[in-house]
Amino acid sequence: MDFRLLKEEEELRLKVREFVQAELVPLESIFDEAPDIFEGTRWKTRARLSSDPEVKRYIEVMEGLERKAEARGLWYLDVPKQYGGLQVSNVAMIAVTEELEQSSVPFELGNHVSNILYGCKGEQVERFLLPCIRGEKTACFGLTEPGAGSDPSMLATTASPDGDYFILNGSKIFPTFADVADFIQVFARLPGTQGHEGITCFLVETGTPGYQVVRSVATIAGTEPCELVFENCRVPKGQVLGELGKGWALNQAWLGARRFQVGIRSHGMAKRTLRLVRDYFKDAVADSEKSGVSLGGFIGELEALRSLTYFGAWKADQGMDVRFEAASVKLFSTELLHRVIDFGLEVIGPSAFRKTHKLGRFFRHARIRRIIEGPSEIQRHIIQRALFREGAALMEIR
Ligand SMILES: Cc1cc2nc3c(=O)[nH]c(=O)nc-3n(C[C@H](O)[C@H](O)[C@H](O)COP(=O)(O)OP(=O)(O)OC[C@H]3O[C@@H](n4cnc5c(N)ncnc54)[C@H](O)[C@@H]3O)c2cc1C
Repeated sequence: MDFRLLKEEEELRLKVREFVQAELVPLESIFDEAPDIFEGTRWKTRARLSSDPEVKRYIEVMEGLERKAEARGLWYLDVPKQYGGLQVSNVAMIAVTEELEQSSVPFELGNHVSNILYGCKGEQVERFLLPCIRGEKTACFGLTEPGAGSDPSMLATTASPDGDYFILNGSKIFPTFADVADFIQVFARLPGTQGHEGITCFLVETGTPGYQVVRSVATIAGTEPCELVFENCRVPKGQVLGELGKGWALNQAWLGARRFQVGIRSHGMAKRTLRLVRDYFKDAVADSEKSGVSLGGFIGELEALRSLTYFGAWKADQGMDVRFEAASVKLFSTELLHRVIDFGLEVIGPSAFRKTHKLGRFFRHARIRRIIEGPSEIQRHIIQRALFREGAALMEIR
């Protein structure tokens, strides 16, 4: 087992570090006041629709950063070589994100492309994939339904074949950006199937007749998930992503890869929280000694999280089964981050509850991470299942 970076990956990591220090760290104080819509790369979708001059000012700053990152060759990092990207490994992407997380400016390198979209074939590539890679289009993800959240195998949205089309009927809750995205990656089931069987992923443009946004719901993290209804929505057969009836595997692939990014992002936010606590205590030596015990404990736990995250990403790079590591990282990272932020709020006290204080913002974003993409209880179930599947092997020291 060796998950050290290759020479060129180490060089990439150092380039990202330089970029973060030169370009992001100096902007931190102005981004403390920024609206939450500038979180993540998909900020563009919503922010660009805003006529608020304050939002437009931030867009200019973000776009300036994008141009600088692209000029330094820090774009298209995880994009496959066949589409003009660097196709860096999962481990290298973890290292890149770890560097980005040194700063609280919510900036990501590259446009948001879900990994399952690389399964596009034929004309889907030109119509859906390439515009997302170039940042010209954005996609949302529609899996959760009123009766199928933690257990998506219960999903009830149907896709009935009709000549060269499928007719989609059903409803989705929470697809983030479904009101502003260009298309949705939506999961529906073929008639007469149940459980994991028959689930199929479709690429559906948001303007397609029968695609209806019922409402969008503002959340404490600034994102606005929606409620959607599909009513006799006709989708050409050519818009099936991957194989018919094999959508469950796509959903698993999407979640698996994301969880290591969630792990390293949570690690970064937790470390920034501990730095705030340390700075707060600079002049209060007595209190600092009291809290030193908690600080030391958290730092140890964060190191364990970091190692597990790199290990999981390394296993994913080897094409190995990472269900156990992905669930462990999602559970451990989001729960640990929550405890660290709660500790920060406790020791810094009332001033940290100011709406624009970094910790208040961290808290709102971190809380949602324990639910979205599978709540903690579900991760515990997955880990438990792995224990029974792999039996004694999991209990051995590897
Ligand atoms: C801000 C936000 C953005 C989101 N964005 C998207 C998106 O873009 N696309 C998308 O498809 N979905 C999205 N979701 C949905 C999200 O993934 C679901 O909320 C999540 O999977 C939980 O499903 P649920 O809300 O139906 O909760 P439920 O399944 O009703 O569960 C509620 C709670 O019950 C507990 N629970 C459930 N099952 C068990 C069990 N077996 N054992 C023990 N406890 C259990 C858990 O604590 C869980 O949190 C988003 C959600 C939020 C809040």
